[in-house]
Amino acid sequence: MNNIKVRFAPSPTGYMHIGNTRTAVFNWLLALKLGGSFMLRIDDTDIQRSKTEYENAIRDILSWLGISWSEEARQSARLERYNAVVEKLKQQGRIYACYETAEELEVMRKQLMNKGLPPIYDRRALNLTPREVAAYKAEGRRPHYRFKLCSGIIEWDDMVRGKCRYDAANLADPVIIREDGSFLYHLPSVIDDADFGITHIIRGEDHVTNTAAQIQMFEALGVSVPCFAHLPLLTGSEGKLSKRLGSLGVRELRAEGMEPMAIASFLAKLGTSEAIEPYYDWQSLAATVDLHRLGRSQPRFDEKELKLFNTRYVHSLPYENVKKRICADSAFWNVVRGNLEKVEDIAEWENICHKKLKPVVEDAALTSLAAKLLPAEPWDEDTFASWAEELKMQSGKKGKALFHPLRLALTAQENGPELKKLLPLIGRAKALERLNGREA
Ligand code: GLU
Repeated sequence: MNNIKVRFAPSPTGYMHIGNTRTAVFNWLLALKLGGSFMLRIDDTDIQRSKTEYENAIRDILSWLGISWSEEARQSARLERYNAVVEKLKQQGRIYACYETAEELEVMRKQLMNKGLPPIYDRRALNLTPREVAAYKAEGRRPHYRFKLCSGIIEWDDMVRGKCRYDAANLADPVIIREDGSFLYHLPSVIDDADFGITHIIRGEDHVTNTAAQIQMFEALGVSVPCFAHLPLLTGSEGKLSKRLGSLGVRELRAEGMEPMAIASFLAKLGTSEAIEPYYDWQSLAATVDLHRLGRSQPRFDEKELKLFNTRYVHSLPYENVKKRICADSAFWNVVRGNLEKVEDIAEWENICHKKLKPVVEDAALTSLAAKLLPAEPWDEDTFASWAEELKMQSGKKGKALFHPLRLALTAQENGPELKKLLPLIGRAKALERLNGREA
């Protein structure tokens, strides 16, 4: 293992959805591709909204996806460390106290907008005299804190977006500590990334402007700046960012029978020029991943497409990948998988082949003749052809008129795997009874 390290840093304020799952997927793929390690960081500085239930659900989904982490940290356990860094940065003049209320800030913002100016905080708090500060305190105001950006151009070479360039003059000093003393995400994230030696940060493009400010925070800490990759956000099938998409829970997709590697394959290729193909293990998917190919346009995510893709995935899913979850052997799996929408549907075909079934009699004359002609076992895939040929000659029927009544009698289904493959799985005893119209 080299020193490459990525992290997935969810806030445990909700369940995993398709958006943050995609972020986790790309982090994991990059770790695998580069031979690095993957860390799970629980961003729980928002104590009101963070819940253990969500945190456990996140771990559960990651494990189900097959993503594993070699290290875990939680931000709420590191407040002492963050406060120590804050003290240092205050001394260096990079963090300063502000006393404006939310309403005052809103008025300032509106005034700037009315003048056609960008709503950038004017740093008036830097000019407060000790008397003014004392007056605010006497009023009962408590400070919030901002990180002071240095003027100049902030640049980085984004693994997805290419060269990115921001003029610090166009950015507001980010608030990093609220009035109640709680931390906003920006600075703790940088301290963690520095302390844990994160080399690559892969996250949604909604963090691009945070990145500009955070690069200055890394510099203020005197540590090297990691590489960044900002993934274009997914849009809903209706073409715009949808609420529904943000909340499309992976737990629900799992309950509906989606396969983890189908979700991973789909998310990894969505928005690239490459075809979305099933990959059955992480390593082979990771070998194909190239973040530069993602481009900047926001890919459209359609749940229906994912479901169709999942079905396609199941149709060629190797037995090795499912054998722990099913009772059937590989021969049975290979015969029926092409007719399954999801793996669990195999139970239906197990019932058809091994349990009692009431046949559907469409052409009694034909099926009882078929029963008489049924050859002795042992059967193999060729049994059906010779039997059907004989039946065709004796009955004078062919095509659908011949095969449809046979299928209905043998399986009570309109569709299914090829009869030549299914017949040996059903066996002679059951086939004979069913062809004679009897439950078996
Ligand atoms: N907790 C942040 C989020 O979920 C993490 C962002 C980041 O990866 O830096 O948006």
